Amino acid sequence: MNTFNTKDLFYIIDILGSLTKEQVKVTIGKNSKIYLQPEKIVLSTKFFQSWICPPCEINNCCNKINTCLFYAQIPNEEMKKVFTEECDILVDKQGNIEKSKLYVYNRTIGCVYLKNYRCLIQDYKPLQCRIIPLHFDCYKHTIHILKRIYKRNWAMKCPLKILPFDFETFKRDLRFLKELNQCANDLNLKTFLPEIITYLENNEIEFKKGNLPKNNIIIYFNENYSA
Ligand code: SF4
Ligand code: SF4
Repeated sequence: MNTFNTKDLFYIIDILGSLTKEQVKVTIGKNSKIYLQPEKIVLSTKFFQSWICPPCEINNCCNKINTCLFYAQIPNEEMKKVFTEECDILVDKQGNIEKSKLYVYNRTIGCVYLKNYRCLIQDYKPLQCRIIPLHFDCYKHTIHILKRIYKRNWAMKCPLKILPFDFETFKRDLRFLKELNQCANDLNLKTFLPEIITYLENNEIEFKKGNLPKNNIIIYFNENYSA
């Protein structure tokens, strides 16, 4: 029987669930969550920012991470050495249940890969450690996609700096969104990630020139929405 805290394993699932195209119930261990299609998905102008996440010696957000995960496709042998445990994940779409695996490393008191305020597995740390401060804010059935400090565990003295737009950071964000989409595909979850990625790719050349959206972009809006 698995002993790790399954609550942390929902970090990525919560993002995918916020962008779901259909009602879905996800179960990991004893924890289940139900996700409903949002009414609106908005790409905020605050998405178009870059950031620096410096090594921080005060209240590092990694101290509070008990368990991390990566998804079904383990890309290399190094990662397999780290994510040695497996855990079932059940995706229930109106009674049609599919079972998949998550690969997990198991810790009970903080992340073992944090040493002297540095991450020892920089090259293959999990997606949930890399996408900070990308944030999918859910309020009244509307999802705002933006950048935000204190994203992970409300590490209140987090020295992360939000900076103006930078094209390289934009490309990195795009890769993160594609990885999230891969996670969704692994679990056979239908989300609005393809629409978000398509919008960003279609406008990439303009962004590179510095022509950024002046207002929030509505990626999806269901005017007949009822939750
Ligand atoms: S894997 Fe690295 S970045 Fe992730 S919680 Fe552990 S030390 Fe922090
Ligand atoms: S997000 Fe903030 S607290 Fe976490 S490692 Fe980066 S700078 Fe430190």
